[in-house]
Amino acid sequence: MTLLDGKKTSEAIQSEIAAEVTEIKAKGGKAPHLAAILVGKDGGSMTYVNNKVLACERVGFASTLLHYGDDITEEALLTKIKEINENPDIDGLIVQLPLPKHISSDKVLEVMDYKKDVDGFHPVNVGRMVAGLPAYLPATPYGIMQLLERYNIDTKGKHCVVVGRSNIVGTPISILMSKCTLPGEATVTICHRNTVDLASHTRQADILIVAVGKPGLITADMVKEGAVVIDVGTTRVTDATRERGWRLRGDVDFENVAPKCSYITPVPGGVGPLTISMLLKNTLRAAKKEVYS
Ligand code: NAP
Repeated sequence: MTLLDGKKTSEAIQSEIAAEVTEIKAKGGKAPHLAAILVGKDGGSMTYVNNKVLACERVGFASTLLHYGDDITEEALLTKIKEINENPDIDGLIVQLPLPKHISSDKVLEVMDYKKDVDGFHPVNVGRMVAGLPAYLPATPYGIMQLLERYNIDTKGKHCVVVGRSNIVGTPISILMSKCTLPGEATVTICHRNTVDLASHTRQADILIVAVGKPGLITADMVKEGAVVIDVGTTRVTDATRERGWRLRGDVDFENVAPKCSYITPVPGGVGPLTISMLLKNTLRAAKKEVYS
């Protein structure tokens, strides 16, 4: 069994990005610039956004954090987004979700310039991904693809079972795995809450990708011998032995499933660390006008 080390892979990706930024600057170019919008004071969202800004600093990007109170009106927020759309110095924009109830995240996405949508959530980027055209890929599925690629995991002709169909993980990874580009070329089954006899599907998986948010959902009897298992789930569970009182648990019963696998991601330290790196990668691609001119 080989552990798919997301932390190490993420560090490698960030070093490659930093080296490219150094080269761009040495040639007189400008640093890629990411703008992040945060509305309100949710602790989790503030931590996520701060980590993204810190990661920008690490690789030599410029970053702008626009933090608004949760009393900002939808109209005022849309106006700010339009200003960023027009600002030629800003290459990428992310709006941290969730937004307060009075602001429609659909409207926010639609107002955003898809050429700056480095989260890959705008309908244009989603549509282009489905059509196999160059697009910003959502960070978590993009990170999974990087893990598969960098560990040289053979996906062609394999049966990939994806559990979970959210717009940010399950649905995009199932589309990417079915595409005629590698990693991909797999035969894909998507499972969700209404799937009857989940185990009968997961047991057929050569590659099992789980993005549900139910700790320990996947037990050893649900996994085929030699399978590749990617656990996206991250749920905080109480842990009195830790000073902070909690730890992260994945959707897979790691201890009992790992001995059956050829490859498996740990939680934490698997898919998680790659998400920020892939956001940086999308921002670099935006600055280099690699996806859209
Ligand atoms: P989500 O939007 O809540 O979607 C969960 C999916 O799981 C839904 O499609 C749901 O089905 C399905 N589901 C729920 N119970 C099920 C069951 N018993 N059997 C089969 N399918 C079931 O969640 P998400 O945003 O995709 O996130 C999933 C997990 O990944 C969470 O733990 C989240 O924290 C984690 N995550 C981690 C990262 C990262 O590490 N960077 C990034 C994103 C998400 P229905 O569609 O039928 O409701």
